[in-house]
Amino acid sequence: EGKENDHTVVMFPFMAQGHIIPFLALALQIEKRGFNIVFVNTPLNIHKLRNSIPPSSAIRLREIPFTGDSDRGLPPDAENTDVLPPSLIFAFVDSSISLKPAFRDLLSELVHSGAPPLAVISDMFFGWSADVAHEFQIFHTIFNAAGGFGMACYHSIWMNFPHRNSDSLEFLLPGFHESVKIYRTQLTPNMLEADGSDPESVFHHRMLTSWSNSDGILFNSVQELDWIGLNYLRREIGQKVWPVGPILLHVENSVRAGRKAGVSLEKCIQWLDSKPPNSVLFISFGSNNTISTFQMMQLARALEQARNTNFIWVVRPPLEYDITAEFKAEEWLPEGFIRRVVETQNRGLVCVQWAPQLDILAHKSVGAFLTHCGWNSVLESLSQGVPLMGWPLAAEQFFNAKFLSEEIGVCVEVAKEFNCEIKCEDLVEKIETVMGEEREKGKEMRRKADEVKEMIRDAMRDDEGGSKGTSVVSMDEFLNVALSRKENME
Ligand code: UDP
Repeated sequence: EGKENDHTVVMFPFMAQGHIIPFLALALQIEKRGFNIVFVNTPLNIHKLRNSIPPSSAIRLREIPFTGDSDRGLPPDAENTDVLPPSLIFAFVDSSISLKPAFRDLLSELVHSGAPPLAVISDMFFGWSADVAHEFQIFHTIFNAAGGFGMACYHSIWMNFPHRNSDSLEFLLPGFHESVKIYRTQLTPNMLEADGSDPESVFHHRMLTSWSNSDGILFNSVQELDWIGLNYLRREIGQKVWPVGPILLHVENSVRAGRKAGVSLEKCIQWLDSKPPNSVLFISFGSNNTISTFQMMQLARALEQARNTNFIWVVRPPLEYDITAEFKAEEWLPEGFIRRVVETQNRGLVCVQWAPQLDILAHKSVGAFLTHCGWNSVLESLSQGVPLMGWPLAAEQFFNAKFLSEEIGVCVEVAKEFNCEIKCEDLVEKIETVMGEEREKGKEMRRKADEVKEMIRDAMRDDEGGSKGTSVVSMDEFLNVALSRKENME
């Protein structure tokens, strides 16, 4: 498609795979509507991205330097959370404010080049960039790649600390019109210990309130699916909320965005082609998370025992190992597991580090997805009508799992507690419930997941001269508001 205008949108994601991927996907969507894109990140990530931009795209990549903050224990060459231990991620996010002067210089340069950007779309961690954009009278939005429900729970908890006023295991979340209850056990330790004065509370308070300085928030979500959380955020943040999702990036790009797949796409597809419909459980814990050796052993045993279940498992080094460690079947998996289950029975594919997730989920042989419930994974699964098994590990993943199982009915929660021990027998029972053709619960989940798939498809409908889905209308509205703001300025 040719250029329809000369307007430039500046995109500025946080330096992590889980953020860069959806930003790149959004950039490609906006570019398709005829806008120029300037994509900003640190040198290492820009370098990785160079090969990820499709040849048909004219996205401009711009580097800004990030100097690791040694006072916070960050290595000087840290530029991407994908290579950091989880304990340092918070410090990493916090010190990203050091990007501010360089980002300001970049905007200043664009403004003085005579083509001031139409809008800045920044990461939810970069609320501070609203001030910089507004200094140059540039429209500023945040793109939130997490779901509305999860973010709404997050907001309610970090702004109100409701668990502190209640002794019971389950408590109501303030600000919701619907009675949304959360288990104390679903809060991560940092949430439980937070009282408003500790560094992490201060960080979250600053981040969440900074969103109000922006001119609106784009969500990678769908109004019909995620209305409870999106409406909460509209009320509580008092801000425009535009659900424009699902914005998904095809695997070819995401793989090339810096990770190498342990097994090629061709091999995955060939293997999946040889399996019956809905017989494969896909297992992956996102781009950052991993589980303990004990949990890997339990999961492997469960996969071996579960009847009529094949699997593709993205295996990362367990928590006890360095995240870049070489695959060690003999230490991470039960003795003989690969030989028996993978080589002899041909029931599973083990992908070391990374798999072409979206293509796998799109294959008809995949019957369910055992996931940490990161929002991208959730959308990718539901957009293909694949029901979920939720094994949340961190952040707002517990709320996503709860939402998908209690409000939508497309998920079985494997873990309802932070840091709990999941036992093999429990996993076998749940896997057979979801995968077993004869089980009512599994059938019902698959039916609901198909309904959600249709709902998502409708939201993205953009018929030639005809009807538009709600996500397309939201995107139109966001761009029109930005355009009219700029016109008024000129
Ligand atoms: N992903 C992938 N292959 C993998 C693991 C992850 O392609 O082996 C992609 C996945 O498709 C999704 C993203 O990485 O787009 C993970 O994002 P999500 O929000 O699910 O989790 P996060 O990594 O942010 O925790």
